[in-house]
Amino acid sequence: MAQGRVTVDGQLARDIDLRVDQFSHIVFDGQVLQQRRACYIMLHKPVGVVCATKDEQHKTVIDLLDGTDNSDLHIVGRLDLNTSGLVLLTNDGQWSKRIMAPDHKVAKTYLVTLKNPLSQEYIEAFAQGFYFAFEDITTLPAQLTIVNAAQGHQALVTLYEGRYHQIKRMFGRFRNPVVALHRLSVGTLALDECLQPGQSRELTPQEVATI
Ligand code: URA
Repeated sequence: MAQGRVTVDGQLARDIDLRVDQFSHIVFDGQVLQQRRACYIMLHKPVGVVCATKDEQHKTVIDLLDGTDNSDLHIVGRLDLNTSGLVLLTNDGQWSKRIMAPDHKVAKTYLVTLKNPLSQEYIEAFAQGFYFAFEDITTLPAQLTIVNAAQGHQALVTLYEGRYHQIKRMFGRFRNPVVALHRLSVGTLALDECLQPGQSRELTPQEVATI
């Protein structure tokens, strides 16, 4: 290092405190040792596409992406097969860990369409939390807003955690089946309205930094 044969992100690596991470561009004697671009994608997942990197039966979210090499991408918070909406993908494990960490309580907002009308009772129950015996936990307080009170079959639900089939199980307590489930946002990131189901785009550096 001290001989000045290594550069990191274009700078001579002479300082022992130099920050190097998985995306640093490292060159030794003119030879590139590491060159890996950080990648952050938002996808509008359609119903019927599986949140997995490989699947025998269904198209995966990876299959929907443009670009040649998506092999190092992982999914930041899965959606069920029959859920649509915002899915984030990245190759930056530290970024996804931050979003998924239980103590960060990143908000996820869903538009939920129900078979039967909703009432005030739902709002209170979601705010109180539900006991899930299988995991032996009580869900964190969640916000429920009834959309179009006249019809009352739709709600905006914001969760601060991600339990297995959480929203379906919560409405299941009222024996009110979820007809459609669509994720609108994760933290500060809202699904870009320009993206049709199946379409994706890279996040801007600002979006990556602010979530
Ligand atoms: N809750 C569910 O039940 N399914 C999802 O896909 C997301 C949240």
